[in-house]
Amino acid sequence: MEKSRNETVEKIVSLAKRRGFVFQSSEIYGGLNGCWDYGPLGVELLRNIKEEWWKAMTYRDDVEGLDAAILMHPRVWEASGHVENFTDPMIDCKQCKARFRLDTLAELISDKNKEKALKEFDAVEGETLDDKFTALLEKQETAQKLLEIVNCPQCGNKGTFTQPRKFNLMFKTFLGPVEDSNNVIYLRPETAQGIYVNFLNVANASRQKLPFGIAQIGKAFRNEINTKNFLFRTREFEQMEMQYFVKPGTDKEFYDYWKEIRIQWFKSLGMTPSKLRFHDHPADKLAHYAKEATDIEYEFPFGWGEIEGIHNRTDYDLSRHQQYSGKSQQYYDDASKEKYIPYIIETSAGASRSFMAFLIDAYYEEEVKGETRNVLRFHPKLAPIKAAILPLVNKDGMPEIARKIETELRPYFKIFYDDKGAIGRRYRRMDEAGTPYCITVDTQTLEDNTVTVRERDSMEQERISIDKLVVYLQEKLR
Ligand code: ATP
Repeated sequence: MEKSRNETVEKIVSLAKRRGFVFQSSEIYGGLNGCWDYGPLGVELLRNIKEEWWKAMTYRDDVEGLDAAILMHPRVWEASGHVENFTDPMIDCKQCKARFRLDTLAELISDKNKEKALKEFDAVEGETLDDKFTALLEKQETAQKLLEIVNCPQCGNKGTFTQPRKFNLMFKTFLGPVEDSNNVIYLRPETAQGIYVNFLNVANASRQKLPFGIAQIGKAFRNEINTKNFLFRTREFEQMEMQYFVKPGTDKEFYDYWKEIRIQWFKSLGMTPSKLRFHDHPADKLAHYAKEATDIEYEFPFGWGEIEGIHNRTDYDLSRHQQYSGKSQQYYDDASKEKYIPYIIETSAGASRSFMAFLIDAYYEEEVKGETRNVLRFHPKLAPIKAAILPLVNKDGMPEIARKIETELRPYFKIFYDDKGAIGRRYRRMDEAGTPYCITVDTQTLEDNTVTVRERDSMEQERISIDKLVVYLQEKLR
């Protein structure tokens, strides 16, 4: 079935609010930029995504789970390189005070303005207008000149930009009652470091031998200069990270292995395969710690965007923690009788960014009998509500039977009971919430104890005996 073309982020944002998936944080106070709240349906979807990740990643004998504190010793972030390197170059407009990330300026400035500015330079490398513009911004001398002649996208004034400055993305706070620089600590910008500093604790406690991994789901905070695109870039978000510790020399093999496993995970939960791809980082664009890196990208309505990063981080992190803590991070390999610092293959997915990708991917608008049907075709494992129970009419004993079915199913599934309005409208409401099954009690139920089960995507109905419903749904949701 063709996906409707007019799918846009705005539509999803409005559906998300109307149906209780996602609300703006502190909305009654005008909202807080870059922060979002998950409503009744959203919290179920998010939990289901995390649950599926947790099962896929830790219900295996070579990966252990962990839940580390958000606040960590400040030295952790010196060792990790975040204090020094976790910065974005930013510029301010002196006139209207708007702030921009230098590397996103190209997409904010109009083509006309870009063309005009480029005329002031001799041969500039790059294929597209944006490439050329970005190339100029990457070099200090040309960036300086360029910033003097372009117009600010917000106020339209020319030559009002400050020179680029480094802006650290970590949120700072204070430990204890004294607010001075000795007590500064950070909200973690990634969950990975909590895993690295616990590597030996977990190895010893679980008696795992290399190769093995440690997985964690948790909040991370980044003071992003520009938040945008709904849940794509937020200041508070959740990550699902797994760090796999391997013997140096075997890193390439496990990097390739995890790449495949991770892209399969998205596909296995119903994400459209043609909207998923790898974007391998070229050697000259790798982060300071990485030997090899790829992004799993999803094709959002606004273009391809990273939903998960897979990195070969070498022995960088553990070596740095060894150096900064003075505690050996070496692993003793029983088999080869050697001591060494393991290499790390990281799989780092955003739970909230995946949430957005799953939500957008599931959204369809279809024509059914001359009416538009909005439907969220979530994989049943991700669907917030698994089944709705609907008495056809509120009489003839139907509600009583429906309530009985509800009681029987509730211990097993997230169920929704609805007896308000015409049956067709109730189906539509459930389609829009992504509920895969609607169970209807009708006149035949009174005769033979069967109900209809309507499947969301095909809209087909079959009759099932009430006493077989639990097993039926369990099968379908497996
Ligand atoms: P980007 O380049 O988009 O800022 P990144 O390369 O810094 O992302 P990583 O540090 O690799 O991202 O983080 C791993 C994952 O965490 C990303 O793939 C993404 O899903 C998620 N993530 C990172 N930053 C944010 C954010 N500000 N909001 C929501 N999710 C995020």
